[in-house]
Amino acid sequence: MIPRLKPCLGITELIAAVKITGRDDVAAFEASFANLMGQKYAVAFPYGRTGLIILLKALGLENKEIICPAYTCVVVPHAIVYSGNQPVFIDCAPGEFNMDLNRAEQAITPNTGAIIATSLFGYPVDLDRLNQIKKKYPGVYIIQDCAHSFAADWKGRPVQKEGVAAIFGLNISKLLTSIFGGMVTTDSTSLCQDLKSLRKRLLTKPTWKKSLRRLLYLLTVYPSFCGPVYGLLNKLERSGCLNHFVKYYDDSVIDMPKDYLEEMTKLEARVGMANIRRYHYIIQNRREAADAYFENLEIKNSNGSQTYFDEDNYKNKFDLPPKIKGATYSHFVVKTGDRDRWLMWGLRHGIQLGWLIEYNIPEMKAYSCRNPNEFPVAARYARETINLPVWGGKNLSKKILNQTTLITLRCSI
Ligand SMILES: *Cc1c(COP(=O)(O)O)cnc(C)c1O
Repeated sequence: MIPRLKPCLGITELIAAVKITGRDDVAAFEASFANLMGQKYAVAFPYGRTGLIILLKALGLENKEIICPAYTCVVVPHAIVYSGNQPVFIDCAPGEFNMDLNRAEQAITPNTGAIIATSLFGYPVDLDRLNQIKKKYPGVYIIQDCAHSFAADWKGRPVQKEGVAAIFGLNISKLLTSIFGGMVTTDSTSLCQDLKSLRKRLLTKPTWKKSLRRLLYLLTVYPSFCGPVYGLLNKLERSGCLNHFVKYYDDSVIDMPKDYLEEMTKLEARVGMANIRRYHYIIQNRREAADAYFENLEIKNSNGSQTYFDEDNYKNKFDLPPKIKGATYSHFVVKTGDRDRWLMWGLRHGIQLGWLIEYNIPEMKAYSCRNPNEFPVAARYARETINLPVWGGKNLSKKILNQTTLITLRCSI
């Protein structure tokens, strides 16, 4: 089975994992990550969400409203709550995945502490619009959530640079990975110092047991993503047997992993260091895969507008995502009227067409304080999107397009 995601890991990461150096590997990883992102500092955390909690604290925010997307990874509002603040959700802009910045501006009150601008699925946030807001409300911090983008650029300007700080997630589903882990990057010397002193005060040193757990996890990752094994795991996953390992949230609880306050291990930092060397290769391959999808799945109407596949039957159609220069395509997400049918189609053809964010956060039990009708775009995406496989390896899209040929979808479904 062709998985919908796959970490780009090779033998060098495995060697790095077991090669104890005696140096401060975490500091070395931070330095090369900062360098890669063109920022002065990077501070490592066990998860991206831990980084966000500590960042909000380091900025002195408490009992504040933090504006964030309604359609994003649920760990983001969880982290806001854990930092002692309150999330304020904003719907997606129509036709886009990213948060509607006009609505975000309207939601600003005297008690707003920060806006978390997420470049979802690798689509860069509109930095021009964001800067207008920043000028008008200089007291509101802009935090870039780059967990999906890893340096997407808006008209040539990398998104992570424009804000007080940026957060990144580094688990195996992200563009770069250090097994687990997260980073906060910033150009501010004082913020970096505050992040590090809070980390020292609130986090504990990782134990050898955690390193061993991470090593075992890494060792299972390699075979898991091989075709036949992945197919089997996918079957188990669908039956619910793997929920303990793969389900990262519970609809009704705001929680954190048990070890969210245990620092990143040196082992993870070494894997991350090795993985960084693949960055350009990974981004290039993801962009190529996306381009191949755009090229091959697009059908031009006679009137010039574009629809895809079965033009007469909405249920069989799927809409391609926006094509934006500077996007890094952490995911290639299409919208469809009949998601289950496509998922079954994928299964029959050995292609995993899973989904990533199948919830509209304000509708979740844990947050159901607001009227979900206020988030119509997010609610639709939650029900109608599927992900086509995209990852950092070579020739992925060619493999899919040739092998079972998505182009023949029109006839075969
Ligand atoms: C993955 C992710 C994060 C950070 O996640 P962790 O699992 O805590 O590292 C933050 N924001 C978004 C949008 C993400 O997808």
